[in-house]
Amino acid sequence: MFNVYKIREDFPALSRKVYGKPLIYMDNGATTQKPIRVIEKLNEVYTQCNSNVHRGVHHLSIQMTEAYEEARSVVRQFINAQSNSEIIFTSGTTGSVNLVASSFGDAFIRKDDQILITGLEHHSNIVPWQMLAERKNAHLKVLPIHRDGTLMVESLDSYLNEKTRLFALSHVSNALGTINPVKELVEAAHKYNIPVLVDGAQAIQHEDVDVMDLNCDFYAFSGHKAYGPNGIGVLYGKEEWLEKLPPYQFGGDMVATVSFKKTTFAGLPLKFEAGTANYPSAIGMAEAFRYLNEIGKNEIAGYERELLDYGNKTLEKIEGLSIFGASKKKISMFSFLLDGIHPSDTGSILDKMGIAVRTGHHCAQPIMDFYGIEGTVRASLAFYNTKDEIDRLAEGIKKVKKMFG
Ligand code: PMP
Repeated sequence: MFNVYKIREDFPALSRKVYGKPLIYMDNGATTQKPIRVIEKLNEVYTQCNSNVHRGVHHLSIQMTEAYEEARSVVRQFINAQSNSEIIFTSGTTGSVNLVASSFGDAFIRKDDQILITGLEHHSNIVPWQMLAERKNAHLKVLPIHRDGTLMVESLDSYLNEKTRLFALSHVSNALGTINPVKELVEAAHKYNIPVLVDGAQAIQHEDVDVMDLNCDFYAFSGHKAYGPNGIGVLYGKEEWLEKLPPYQFGGDMVATVSFKKTTFAGLPLKFEAGTANYPSAIGMAEAFRYLNEIGKNEIAGYERELLDYGNKTLEKIEGLSIFGASKKKISMFSFLLDGIHPSDTGSILDKMGIAVRTGHHCAQPIMDFYGIEGTVRASLAFYNTKDEIDRLAEGIKKVKKMFG
């Protein structure tokens, strides 16, 4: 049985107070709080067995290396990849996208080629491709969106052609919460032999991500948005693609042999992991995934759908509140504006009531431009949020309205 109050006990940060009021943390799209067992795992690494991986013959180094590679196996299982060679540890989603933009870009993008993204992307899945296009005199194309915040899937065919080299899209929009039909889009792109990179930064913690089922070529995500530590993320890549791509950064750990005449590179996955790995965070992230597995991905998704329905019903009743993003398939996120009230004013007043929401463009300025707004107030929920907290958010919003007359 899913018991949210029991789950909340696993997250020490949730019991703190802000301005003397119980914290209502609804900024999970930016980063999630960490369960105690992840914090304890990091503590264990640093107090018991810290030692650099892959390099030592001594006990601690062997222990750390095993734990690091075990973390890779946990990630592989979590996203259902075929082999550990397909799991590259990076610094986060941004690091993963930049890796592909640089490596794939160097090897496969030529003058006049096209890179397709969508109108729903976070800056992290726009700017690396824009810079690549500039570097190579290639072109960035954008699949547009509808007013309800869904992609114009029906137009996709007209954006795919023999010049398109890569399609990069988000699994879930961080600004609107839209869940994109990734499997369908991958299938359409593959008809033209176009590889697809999926930015899963907002999906991995909400959806049951199965990379083999999605059949995407690359999948990127961050640990810190999925109850894991900061500074760690993953690039999943199909082995056939990762084998073809040149290394992204050079240095220790990613080499097989080095002489002043010639260097040969390590095989996958280390070929893409130059320098000392962030093994404590990788191990911590694996602990977060074990925790999520124990709670159950379906139970989490089911409860979050309940929160979404409840939140929609509750917020819809508030006059003058408009929600951006009306896709039928959405994560539990409410991106909204109050008539005539600046989002940062709403956010600051809610903050004084202990309610943490994010305000602004959410690193997705093109989406704000599409709606002709500066930004929104975003309440992004996690499976530790409650219906009671949604009620308190609604009360808080009503108070904001009253203050602004
Ligand atoms: N893509 C999306 C959809 C995101 O929401 C974020 C984080 N807001 C990123 C990419 C970047 O993630 P990170 O900062 O962890 O690299």
